[in-house]
Amino acid sequence: MSPKLLTDVYYTLNDGKKVPAFGLGTYNEDESQHHKITQAVITAIEEGVRHIDTAWYYETEPYIGKALKDVFDRGIVKREDLFITTKVWPSMHDKVEKSLDRSLEQLGVDYVDLFLQHWPLCFESGPDGYPATPVDDAGEIILAEKADYLDTYRQMEEIYHKTSKIKSLGVANFPVRKLKQLLKTCKVKPVNNQIECHPEFPQTELGDFCAENDIIVTAYSPLGGGGNGAPLIKNKRAAALTEKYKDYNINEILYSYHIQSGRIVIPKSLNPKRIQSVKKLVPLTKEDIEFLESGPHKRYTDNPWYGHVGFGY
Ligand code: NDP
Repeated sequence: MSPKLLTDVYYTLNDGKKVPAFGLGTYNEDESQHHKITQAVITAIEEGVRHIDTAWYYETEPYIGKALKDVFDRGIVKREDLFITTKVWPSMHDKVEKSLDRSLEQLGVDYVDLFLQHWPLCFESGPDGYPATPVDDAGEIILAEKADYLDTYRQMEEIYHKTSKIKSLGVANFPVRKLKQLLKTCKVKPVNNQIECHPEFPQTELGDFCAENDIIVTAYSPLGGGGNGAPLIKNKRAAALTEKYKDYNINEILYSYHIQSGRIVIPKSLNPKRIQSVKKLVPLTKEDIEFLESGPHKRYTDNPWYGHVGFGY
């Protein structure tokens, strides 16, 4: 029997919609590489990936739009076969529909499957949301002091109710305390919380809280982040498991770790050969997962606004 593939697994969200467990991330800090995203998305879709993750902030949506046009024109997939996620950035906290409309236009689609609030924060910025990360002379992020991050979600709910531009609503980078506040006030429960997660940062407490509230977790930066040199690729426990599971590569181990734990995972790759080589779902056991998580834990991603999020609560 041929092995199960990463792309075979789907979950049901708390609003009844289906989501593919394995997606392609599209954030790339080096803008000069953005043109490679078009081929990466095309290759991923040709290889069976049906979930694409992007955001207003990434500036990669036009390149994804080109790829989508190509696969739709060639009849590889139809719009309804794909699950597309985008996000509203804190500098667009009071212009949520404008943010979504730019994403839809650049992607060349009429709706997104999942619209996320990118951070539980509001930044003080210009009318078009630039600078996207406003900082003062000391390099401190400039928050919109009078704004409330819960209002951003309220605007998302309004668009969800009044238009057909969004299928499901969710959040990203929400620690437990912010989720609790949101759950008290929201009318549409978020289906998803997208957070940094990997064996060196398993986020167990936040994951448990999400599970209790039927909010599915998406693991971002599953290799610790491209900008950080994908440090999880050097993880000794994951390497040891490639000895146990000889027919699988280390990427498959590190992505199956999430899917075998009930999470969505959205690794980024701009390398078509790599995309083609990462296919199989590894039949990891509970013991393998405990073994992977048993090392020291640390968050790899960092940004000037992290101190304002309240991580750890
Ligand atoms: P990942 O942790 O997925 O790492 C991606 C990098 O790992 C790429 O540069 C890739 O290179 C490299 N890589 C993959 N396999 C190997 C290998 N075997 N050996 C060496 N290098 C390898 O990074 P991201 O931070 O991009 O996270 C994934 C996605 O998550 C993002 O693209 C974005 O969509 C989302 N995200 C969301 C955030 C949020 O705030 N909501 C924050 C951060 C990310 P190559 O291109 O050559 O394959």
